Amino acid sequence: MITIEHLSKVYGNLTVLKDINAEIRKGEVVSIIGPSGTGKSTLLRCLNLLEQPTSGAITIDGIDVLAPGADVPAIRQRMNMVFQSFNLFAHLSVLENLTLAPIKLKGISQAEAETKAMDLLRLVGLGEKAHQFPDELSGGQKQRVAIARCLAMDPEIILFDEPTSALDPTMISEVLAVIRRLASEGMTMAIVTHEMDFARDVSNRVFYMDEGLIYEEGPPAQIFDNPQREKTRAFIQRIRSYRCSVNSPDFDLYAIHGGIDTFCEKHVIPRQTRHDLQLLAEEFLQLIRSSLHADASAALTVDYSEASGAVTVQADIEGSLGNPLEGAGEEDELSRMLLKNLLTGFEYSVRDGRGQLLMKLRSS
Ligand code: ADP
Ligand code: MG
Repeated sequence: MITIEHLSKVYGNLTVLKDINAEIRKGEVVSIIGPSGTGKSTLLRCLNLLEQPTSGAITIDGIDVLAPGADVPAIRQRMNMVFQSFNLFAHLSVLENLTLAPIKLKGISQAEAETKAMDLLRLVGLGEKAHQFPDELSGGQKQRVAIARCLAMDPEIILFDEPTSALDPTMISEVLAVIRRLASEGMTMAIVTHEMDFARDVSNRVFYMDEGLIYEEGPPAQIFDNPQREKTRAFIQRIRSYRCSVNSPDFDLYAIHGGIDTFCEKHVIPRQTRHDLQLLAEEFLQLIRSSLHADASAALTVDYSEASGAVTVQADIEGSLGNPLEGAGEEDELSRMLLKNLLTGFEYSVRDGRGQLLMKLRSS
């Protein structure tokens, strides 16, 4: 349905898109993931003709959309976009937000546009909000109106640019539920997202973008469980783990506990394991606390293996601390004992002058 060939985009001397080649087939849901600043938004904006690509070709059903004289409004209607920041018209009611473009651009009657708009509002769960104004709605509701407005133009493909990243966590799922429903009804979609669980189960294919390229593409099982290339692996590893670092004895333990909570909730890690993990972090940091002055610091990385259920904590310690689990100080004996009791094992090594302590949490 859509073919992208050798697409590039250069701003001044910054090459944002290098050589993008891709195909999106009818009925397919493609998720686009990757670090920020790698050109994901730019790619969608090029597809939607909000940016003029520097070189390359984009065709939709064989029509060259970059050709001089191409009908830009018609192309935008076929490839309609939903933005992170909703972009609703604040001075129009919800219903008018939906009917404006169909009446103006497609020339359909007001009555017909309103009937259709009401159907779409009901589809996204907002039938009763038709006569309210955008600023009377929550973020999640605004984004659902934006999706309904997009659908009102009968697009053949919807481009979503991080549709949930401006939302409070409590409102993310209501928006994802609407997108899931569209997917199940066969809508063709390209979705830039940071919601990895969602990307995994809604997509047919995942594009991992890095350095202005589609660095790796494949089915979700490949990209998330068995990435083939180094940068994809590093990215997936990074988003799966929780990290914190401390460099003063006055570190913020509440923030660390909170971070572990969020991480465990995301991965549905059992409550007891979460508790043990927090205790581990607390006792470990207690052990090294007195050494945390100007030139010593430590970073903890918590990893969870979905396959085995194992939780590991890697401590990366800068400064001449030695292995905190084998210190000699009497006063720390209790902490060391508590900590060792939480572990099935640990390994300590020194690499490039940094101590590396890998701790395996006992499963509960
Ligand atoms: P992503 O969506 O993956 O985070 P973007 O496509 O937004 O990445 O941006 C990629 C790079 O292009 C960034 O370095 C950004 O600063 C740059 N960029 C985006 N838009 C413009 C612009 N209009 N002018 C100059 N640089 C831009
Ligand atoms: Mg972006």
